[in-house]
Amino acid sequence: MAEPRFFCDDHLWRLARWLRAAGIDTAWERAIEDGLLVERARAEERTVLTLDRGIAARRNVDVRLLPSHDPVEQLRFLCEAYGLDPLARAFTRCPMCNGVLTEAAPDQVEVPERVRSCCDRFWQCDGCGRTYWHGDHVRHMRARFETIRGGDAGRPPGPTSPERPSRPAR
Ligand SMILES: [Zn+2]
Repeated sequence: MAEPRFFCDDHLWRLARWLRAAGIDTAWERAIEDGLLVERARAEERTVLTLDRGIAARRNVDVRLLPSHDPVEQLRFLCEAYGLDPLARAFTRCPMCNGVLTEAAPDQVEVPERVRSCCDRFWQCDGCGRTYWHGDHVRHMRARFETIRGGDAGRPPGPTSPERPSRPAR
């Protein structure tokens, strides 16, 4: 199955950041109008992610209605539904703009001294130019990704078998 590409609706900016941190190609635009969101998603062949039943009811685009308001639970649901490993491409995309990160030489980046003393590898976003390093925030996210990949471990028991993803007929 081809790697899914997503378009998060206006409210799902936190999920968009988590998906991008997991290296999954995810678009999001602030205050985008529903009609335009659907149009963009169709044009870019992305699956719309939403908590809005009105958007989910649209027939002219591939849509996923999410079962939870919690971004980590949303990510877990998508990893299960699409068979995604959140660690496979983790930290290869910019959480802010979805750009691709490329490793940069330490002397090419501007970072605070405290960062330079703890980290020796740096990445730069080809979209917005932000510099990233693997500090506490990355360790925290990696731990969440490991929990998600661990599947049922650490999750309360319950009937949670997501249906397989469906694709619209073309
Ligand atoms: Zn960026």
